[in-house]
Amino acid sequence: MHLEKLEIQGFKSFANKNVLTFPGMISDEKRGLTAVVGPNGSGKSNVADAVRWTLGEQSMKTLRGKRAEDIIFSGSDKKGKLGMAEVSLFLNNEDGGYSKALLSTESENKKEEEDDDEKKASPMDLSQIIISRRLYRNGDSEYMINNNRVRLSDIQMLLARAKFGQKTYSVIGQGMVEGFLNTSLSERKEFFDEATGVKQFQIKRDESLNKLKSSYENLAQAQMLVIEIEPRLKSLTRQVNKLQKRGELEKELKELQVLYYGFLWK
Ligand code: ATP
Repeated sequence: MHLEKLEIQGFKSFANKNVLTFPGMISDEKRGLTAVVGPNGSGKSNVADAVRWTLGEQSMKTLRGKRAEDIIFSGSDKKGKLGMAEVSLFLNNEDGGYSKALLSTESENKKEEEDDDEKKASPMDLSQIIISRRLYRNGDSEYMINNNRVRLSDIQMLLARAKFGQKTYSVIGQGMVEGFLNTSLSERKEFFDEATGVKQFQIKRDESLNKLKSSYENLAQAQMLVIEIEPRLKSLTRQVNKLQKRGELEKELKELQVLYYGFLWK
């Protein structure tokens, strides 16, 4: 799997639609390498930011901004500010990198029922995966895989399965190598988790733990209700017992009355 094309519109310094294509194989064995060059402040790092952002980056610090709308084109001498930013990453998956990752996971989880969320995350066309992210100035945002709206967690799961991380080594920014060497052991482990594909299971585990947590909360709420209702249950049970007894007494009274009035009549 490799990045084939990047479409940027309304993102930071890219007001108009810009399409960057990256060469694939330059010979049978060699893959091309692309360098983006330009003077200071011309927007080179914005290209890397666009990739990070589309992969689901949430930290504005990493994206070199303060508020979410800082990533939307804020206007220049020639053009007014825009209301929306959109970036699409076109990933070439002809080598089946993603489907292989998908297959290995599926065979491991053969017995496990695939839930709806995962089905949604599976791109329809496996030879090309298009990941898009949109942000409007009013704060609305959208994530898409192959033009179908998805949740951020679907993108995270897709990337984790393809061992193509969003946070760690996929985009190595200035100073990151030094940063990596200076990281703590647990931070360094994050890199390896992503590279080895463990991340997808960690995401699943976290999702399951969240579900479990909300089930416990529901259970606690149900128990509270039971405690609240129980005293009323006791008095209701007493009333039901009294009613039953009244029925029995009424029946006995009727039998005795029949006997008594029968005797008087005779
Ligand atoms: P350097 O070589 O100095 O690292 P660079 O080529 O990487 O620079 P970037 O940092 O990518 O350049 O781009 C900075 C430019 O992007 C600045 O001119 C800045 O005004 C512009 N820019 C950033 N955010 C926005 C925005 N929201 N709207 C318009 N322009 C923006």
